[in-house]
Amino acid sequence: MTMNTNVRLKPDTTYVCAMRVMTVLVFVASGFSGTASAQDADLDPRIVKLVAAISEERLETILKKLETFETRSTLSSTTSSTRGIGAAREWILQEMRSYSPKLQVSFDVHHVPKQGRITRDIELRNVMAILPGKSARRIYVSGHYDTVARPGGQGVTNSGGPARDPDAATPPPIDPNAPLDNRAPGVNDDGSGTALTIELARVFSQSGIDFEATLVFMCHAGEEQGLVGARLHAQKAVAEHIPIEAIFNNDIVGNDKGGNGIIDGATIRVYSEGPEDSPSRELARFVQRWGGRYVPSHRVRPMARPDRFGRGGDHSAYNQLGFTAVGFRESRENFTRQHDVRDTFEGISLPYLAQNSRVNAASAATLALAPPPPTVMSERGQPLMTRAPSGYDANLRWNASPGAAAYRIFWRDAWGPDWQHDLLVGNATNVVLPNMQIDDYVFGVAAIDAQGHESFVTAYVTPPRANTAIRSGQY
Ligand SMILES: [Zn+2]
Repeated sequence: MTMNTNVRLKPDTTYVCAMRVMTVLVFVASGFSGTASAQDADLDPRIVKLVAAISEERLETILKKLETFETRSTLSSTTSSTRGIGAAREWILQEMRSYSPKLQVSFDVHHVPKQGRITRDIELRNVMAILPGKSARRIYVSGHYDTVARPGGQGVTNSGGPARDPDAATPPPIDPNAPLDNRAPGVNDDGSGTALTIELARVFSQSGIDFEATLVFMCHAGEEQGLVGARLHAQKAVAEHIPIEAIFNNDIVGNDKGGNGIIDGATIRVYSEGPEDSPSRELARFVQRWGGRYVPSHRVRPMARPDRFGRGGDHSAYNQLGFTAVGFRESRENFTRQHDVRDTFEGISLPYLAQNSRVNAASAATLALAPPPPTVMSERGQPLMTRAPSGYDANLRWNASPGAAAYRIFWRDAWGPDWQHDLLVGNATNVVLPNMQIDDYVFGVAAIDAQGHESFVTAYVTPPRANTAIRSGQY
């Protein structure tokens, strides 16, 4: 191991680094028995196979089954074996259990007293499938399986008008202790994210790949009452020091026809909280980079904001407790079907949902095979970047990531969202880029294992400075 190697990049040593790049890539390509072309060299054939295992037929079967429960409202009945959230969560549990003995499937149970939009005391159950990896660090793929329908749905909420739709859902019962059993099929919101999560549990657990990170396939409840299931799980993760590295949350990802008639089945939006080089933003850039490589036919559109205006999702519950999380959202929404009895299977495009599932699968698999992202902060909370040795250089240092065989540094002008340049630097924890003015660029570094699996980037960011109060007035 050559940790702490100091790589100073002059033209000749740059070439040495480039040769190391070739060594890594040739290793990957030589394991590929199919029809690999030159540009396939970055791709892991096992991930290619995993992504190809996503099945439109399986997604269809799951969505149609979820629709049969008629409502999956968190406040609906739990006593029926065929209708309501009790029946739905039991089916999701048994379905994921059937995939592989490697998958540890359980209810994540929380007792929730009446509060906010939870109108009576309930037992809330997230359904969680854990695929243990070699390390405890966790990567989540999630959706919410609960549903809601109210008169007029999201269309009326958006247009600000009163409920006037003859097909609209019946209003909730007056008795707050009665189950909220009005029909709320929720096939897209969020049957789509739920089906994606369940299908990824199947293909990951049946892939035969030993992942470095532990994968968690999480179907949340209580989202429609204020991200309740996600908040409870995130609170538990904080209290129990569960090392959650990333959350890929999917909510409304199955429809490609906007309510205004505009169709887009070839792109997906990925929302992330700021500021601009926050870990969640880096995760969004990672999805664009690696989802885009394995699924080049589907364009990932990172959005530099936490979510759509006035809308929320479970990723924000994790963000608010300090976790790295992004939210996938279909590109063109049909608000008249959301939170409405019309959120049925007819509103789903299976090819579109499958593409979104493939982007999630490629990103989660790459991240789960990669080393953890490097840390780049000193013990005093400052970025490990200086102008040494000349006083005019970019001198980047980082802490070694366990399992890393190489690192890739990234940079871009300090004005603009996308990385513009990258360079593989071998197994070093320090690199010097002569005459690069650190003030003019954003820099970052990712960790890479011996097979080329890359973490998301950790950026060098100066923490905001506290105000220094100056006394004025009397001498
Ligand atoms: Zn939703």
